[in-house]
Amino acid sequence: MTFKIDLHCHSLVSDGALSPSQLIERAAGQLVTDIALTDHDTTDGLAEAKSAAQQHGINLIHGIELSTSWNNKCFHVVGANIDPDFPPFQEGIKELRKIRNDRAEKMAAKLAKKGIPDAMTAVTKKAGLGMITRTHFADFLVGGGYVTTMQGAFDQYLAKGKPAFVSTRWTELECAISWITEAGGVAILAHPLRYKLTASWLRRLLTAFKATGGLGIEVVTGRNNPDEIRKASYFAEKFELYGSVGSDFHSPKNPWVELGRLAPLPNNIKPVWELFG
Ligand code: AMP
Ligand code: MN
Ligand code: MN
Ligand code: MN
Repeated sequence: MTFKIDLHCHSLVSDGALSPSQLIERAAGQLVTDIALTDHDTTDGLAEAKSAAQQHGINLIHGIELSTSWNNKCFHVVGANIDPDFPPFQEGIKELRKIRNDRAEKMAAKLAKKGIPDAMTAVTKKAGLGMITRTHFADFLVGGGYVTTMQGAFDQYLAKGKPAFVSTRWTELECAISWITEAGGVAILAHPLRYKLTASWLRRLLTAFKATGGLGIEVVTGRNNPDEIRKASYFAEKFELYGSVGSDFHSPKNPWVELGRLAPLPNNIKPVWELFG
């Protein structure tokens, strides 16, 4: 089987559309050989994904995508090849669940002020036992006819500066990196070009990331064009970071992103999976 790896995707344990088993089944259909399930701030989907992966002969890498704060801005850090059962790691995740629930309550209150009631009940139901995310709020806003598209929900209500946005203190970046490292994993900066940082802020971020034990950076993501891959590769080389590839797949409804459908990692970049042992 030809090696085909995807180190970033979501199930319905956070804001994905598929259950962990459905996700693995889809990955198998796409001939993916190695996959990391990286739900937002939770590892609850990993056990189900693991047994599905065994059935399909796929290698499941235990992962997570942590929400972190650095300089009052939110950055996502993928933890790959973690031991999810490491107790301090689960303690940290418990904190993030509380932060997410508190934020959701505040977002719902803001929506109520705008004449949109009952958001908390709806997103709690949608998320089930999983993490509540802005994607759930976007779904609710589309379902209620308040907006026509998911993008519209972010543009009109949920994005930074919009009426339902709640500025949130996530786990500090360095703290999240240490949880991942202590759990035996590799910390990877997710989608580095999506934060719209200037080059000098991105350099500052990467300096801090590396100084606190960050080892990888996503060089290829689901919607990258060649220019973005070149830019991310430049930073990977400059900061001597290992390169990762991950689709950030959420739902089959998005035709632009598919599990494992990724440009190859450029030859001059060291693959982060070399660190998995
Ligand atoms: P949260 O972590 O709760 O703030 O939710 C962030 C999630 O919302 C991201 O992981 C994306 O899946 C989704 N998201 C963020 N911005 C957009 C957008 N403009 N359009 C659609 N989905 C988005
Ligand atoms: Mn998401
Ligand atoms: Mn992300
Ligand atoms: Mn993601």
